[in-house]
Amino acid sequence: MSGKGKFGEFGGTFVSEILEASRAELEEGFFRLKKNKKFKKELAELLEKYGGRPTPLTYAENLSKKFGCKIYLKREDLLHSGAHKLNNCLGQALIAKYLGKKKLIAETGAGQHGVATAVVGAKLGLDVDVYMGKTDAERQKPNVFRMELCGAKVKIVESGSMTLKDAINEALRDWTATSKNTHYLLGSVLGPHPYPLMVAHFQSVIGKEAKKQIIKEEGRFPKAVIACVGGGSNAIGIFRQFLPEKNVELIGVEAAGLGISTGKHASRFSDKKLGRKGAMHGCFTYILQDKFGQIINTHSVAAGLDYCAVGPEHSMLRDLGRIKYAYATDKEALKAFQILSKEEGIIPALESAHAIAYALKYAKKCSPKDIILINLSGRGDKDLEMVMKEIRCKK
Ligand SMILES: *Cc1c(COP(=O)(O)O)cnc(C)c1O
Repeated sequence: MSGKGKFGEFGGTFVSEILEASRAELEEGFFRLKKNKKFKKELAELLEKYGGRPTPLTYAENLSKKFGCKIYLKREDLLHSGAHKLNNCLGQALIAKYLGKKKLIAETGAGQHGVATAVVGAKLGLDVDVYMGKTDAERQKPNVFRMELCGAKVKIVESGSMTLKDAINEALRDWTATSKNTHYLLGSVLGPHPYPLMVAHFQSVIGKEAKKQIIKEEGRFPKAVIACVGGGSNAIGIFRQFLPEKNVELIGVEAAGLGISTGKHASRFSDKKLGRKGAMHGCFTYILQDKFGQIINTHSVAAGLDYCAVGPEHSMLRDLGRIKYAYATDKEALKAFQILSKEEGIIPALESAHAIAYALKYAKKCSPKDIILINLSGRGDKDLEMVMKEIRCKK
């Protein structure tokens, strides 16, 4: 454990000695390549010509009229493969290639990060192994098939609760044994240094574009920028550029599942009892745990938000008071999912629907001139089956 990669008291490098050499190699590679002209040019080209960047900023006119202020959407749902995850996957896969690695390993819960990794593996000619809990794989068959179509090997994990945290353990074990030739492509601003910084770096393209786009449209900054927070990569991606603008409120929205008081949620910050500091999967941060330090089984209708830990940079910015954290329940997200579809003809990912749900609440306190910028992290095709069930059950 060194002082590197610290965000105040959070972050760090909690890894075994066997992994330290690979971690250090990645750290050196990242800081060297992020300034390298050829690397930067190649990544910019991939983002533009393969990914479809820049993504548009859309004025949600109908929603704005209905809710009484100006609502803008940053359209990461239009990025290739349907979510912001591709920004990070392209960046890291390119680093892996420059470092001479032959294979990517990744973990996935819902399958979105696994799909994005499989996609870039195919594009850049790298082998891909994706670890996925058995429970998740059964729930997400279309995503398993997408990964396989793109040539990835899906490795089913049958230990523990057979979900994301067990898949991460297996991926880390694999990396420990094979790190000479493999790169561990981590999907959010989590894990040991340099991952939280590196993933934030690759996602900050969202905020760089959004800041220019909103100035072009409106000639001023928004009153608030709102994004959902799983590990926290799409949120940091859009927030970063606005951190110095002290008048812009930054609000991260966690998944409150069945409600904070039920304990069945993924609100690391909003649950003052279960959300406590601790070390997990390589870094020190806020984690949902009981008083004996046992990890709580989280719940959210949005698989991408359903994780017990949050990125260390969020933990710091929360304790500093620069970012405010709110929450939306399953029910509120499902309602927002339908509102955005009906008003704007945009079907959001259930994760993004959490940001929409809170933004619509926030809008009630705004005046007609106020601007709200929402990061629409992904599209909702993957969630149709789930939402169909939920809506029909209610009828
Ligand atoms: C994975 C995912 C998230 C959550 O991840 P972050 O790292 O918190 O951004 C949010 N939205 C979508 C669409 C996702 O696929």
